Amino acid sequence: MSESKDFLRTIVEEDLKSGKYKEVITRFPPEPNGFPHIGHAKSICINFGIARDYQGHCNLRMDDTNPTTEDMKYVEALKDAVTWLGFEWADKVYFASDYFPKIYDYAVKLIQMGKAYVDSLNEEEIREYRGTVMQAGKRSKFAERSIEENLDLLERMKNGEFRDGEHVLRAKIDMSAANMKMRDPLLYRIRHAHHFRSGDEWCIYPMYDFAHCLSDYIEGVTHSICTLEFENNRDIYDWVLDALELTPPRPYQHEFARLGMNYTVMSKRKLLELVNGNYVNGWDDPRLPTIAGYKRRGYTPESILNFCDQIGIAKANSMVDVAQLEFCIRDDLNTKVPRVMCVLDPLKITIENYEGEEAIDASYYPHDVPKEGSRKLPFSREIYIERDDFMENPPEGYFRLTPEQPVRLKHAYIITCKEIVKDASGTITEIKAEYHPESKSGSDTSGIKVKSAIHWVSAKHAKAVEVRLYERLYSVEAPEGLEDLNPDSLHVIKNAFVEPAVITEKPDVRFQFERQGYFYADPIDYTDEKPVFNKIVGLKDSWSKKTEGAVPAPKPVVQKVQVEGEVTPMNEVEQASFDRYTKVLGLNNEIANILARDEQLSRFYEESLSIFNSPVSIANLVANEVARELKQESALNFSAKEIAELVKMIDEGTISNKIAKQVFEEMLTSGENPKAIVEAKGLTQISDPEKLKPIIDDVIAKNPDNVAKFKAGNTNLFGFFVGQVLKNSGGKANPTVVNELVSEKLKHV
Ligand code: ATP
Ligand code: MG
Repeated sequence: MSESKDFLRTIVEEDLKSGKYKEVITRFPPEPNGFPHIGHAKSICINFGIARDYQGHCNLRMDDTNPTTEDMKYVEALKDAVTWLGFEWADKVYFASDYFPKIYDYAVKLIQMGKAYVDSLNEEEIREYRGTVMQAGKRSKFAERSIEENLDLLERMKNGEFRDGEHVLRAKIDMSAANMKMRDPLLYRIRHAHHFRSGDEWCIYPMYDFAHCLSDYIEGVTHSICTLEFENNRDIYDWVLDALELTPPRPYQHEFARLGMNYTVMSKRKLLELVNGNYVNGWDDPRLPTIAGYKRRGYTPESILNFCDQIGIAKANSMVDVAQLEFCIRDDLNTKVPRVMCVLDPLKITIENYEGEEAIDASYYPHDVPKEGSRKLPFSREIYIERDDFMENPPEGYFRLTPEQPVRLKHAYIITCKEIVKDASGTITEIKAEYHPESKSGSDTSGIKVKSAIHWVSAKHAKAVEVRLYERLYSVEAPEGLEDLNPDSLHVIKNAFVEPAVITEKPDVRFQFERQGYFYADPIDYTDEKPVFNKIVGLKDSWSKKTEGAVPAPKPVVQKVQVEGEVTPMNEVEQASFDRYTKVLGLNNEIANILARDEQLSRFYEESLSIFNSPVSIANLVANEVARELKQESALNFSAKEIAELVKMIDEGTISNKIAKQVFEEMLTSGENPKAIVEAKGLTQISDPEKLKPIIDDVIAKNPDNVAKFKAGNTNLFGFFVGQVLKNSGGKANPTVVNELVSEKLKHV
């Protein structure tokens, strides 16, 4: 357990101390409609972690109340994730669907108590009747039905006498409740659909708000821990359990902030889109933030547990930098895994004064790692080094091999370049070199000075392997859609060379390839004929370095994570704004929170909104870009009016979200209005197929290899083509149209 206690553990301890519960029982309640991701790992760590720390237990429960999206393969993936992270569930896997009969009985009981009724308004009427935050709702006339009539209707709903949507069961609470969720929430709906476990037994399904609290109660859960977006559902949770007058003890709901991470998407819906659209290679694609993806890539459970521990448990939503996760895996592997050599882009060196071969005793670990182990490293006359470890005309500060500068071969000798061999096109094909017999590593008496040591492999002994290098899946910090996918997120090297020691080991091994990074033998595709290695992570955080100096890098939206529990409560005005933003305008809690707590921002937001009514889009821009500028500049270069204009152009499809960012940056520097910028720079989104087709044809013509691979079945490359087209259009192409056109085009090439 970490040393400082989080607010959830504080609550649990108090509840145990006061005798409210004898044993802590938590649950991890995923909906089996997708593979679990790193956000779920956080929830798993919290729920299973608390149970373990206080000698209680945690149930793994499938929240499978939505028949249309769920599947057994997701159940298996969830079980696998929990086990892999090192946790154990109590006795068996639980399913909410097993409680359908019990939940139904509770519904009957509520009706008998006069606390629930069958409503026959349609969906739209239900929404209308609900009212707004400013305005009380009104109750349906069907709420007057007698208990007998309600019982009869519910039974007939269950028996399949009605169509989907014809009736619903609702709790009779309060149509003018300040919390809109309490305005007679729905408890059951009709769904004529096959359920992956209960089959066709049911055609009515309980809603989350009814099923969840009761499932918790049935299992004797004490602490029902969920994410912040369920804050407003807590009142229903309590109402249901209280209204049914259940025998104590009963569970209580507590909320924490969900994990968000940059350069990726997290929701299962978005991940499903990537998987189904073949933008990635299945749910376990090493570029995905899924547990299966991390596992396949070579992450260790320890590194993920450590990450979850570091980010802590807070009540304020925040975005975590993916670099922090990468730090954790690097930190874990640094002292654990052997260091070996692999050449990714080989350049042949012939050492002319060396005859025969030898086996050098080479340590797997540097001196400061408290681990022993070494291998016999074959050395011979022909070796490979990395192509960029030699330069004919080096810039100043280049420390590796050049015509004038010798270099050390790691664990072996110093070599000097004698002759450069080139082909007809001028490409270097080979270096002839000589080695210095007295310079052997560990017993060097040569007196030759070198500035660096490079990795190498003996050509005769090396084994060809495939290496898969991964970059971030998205090229922007806060991806908005497919157009933000990084077209170069996967780079496959078909013929890299490793030293023999890498191969004699069994799969399920990790190595540090010296100077390259950490690698993992791919658990699926690795064969003796074709060993495959995945790059887990680089040796240092090279990302920040790479983007430096490029076009003005977007300023980070990453906030420091707040580790302690509670945040300052809102004052009345802030709370009123927050409620209106979330309940009337449909903003998510996080954005609403940012706006509501900042008077200047909320004023700016309202003003923009009065000019152009697009609550969500304007809110996103104001809470991110405008907020950032306000923090840094005292006076703004633009007003609410320009922001409204900008959003109007996005909503009308004149410009893409991505271009909008560019326009915004331009507004900052030039102070021009957005329309003028778009016109002057020709940034209008291109949706006309006739204009897009030439760009697509061009991309197809320039990438014959990839077209061939695509035709041969590598559908994964679809994303590559779309990405290239978007890129070549300067980000102006309409992604949806491009998607359609490319898919059409590829059918016919
Ligand atoms: P998604 O939006 O990704 O589909 P979800 O909340 O619908 O996620 P569930 O399967 O219903 O996913 O969630 C199971 C548990 O995991 C819930 O208790 C949920 O609160 C938690 N959880 C899901 N996403 C995150 C996240 N990003 N950070 C922390 N906990 C999460
Ligand atoms: Mg969900």
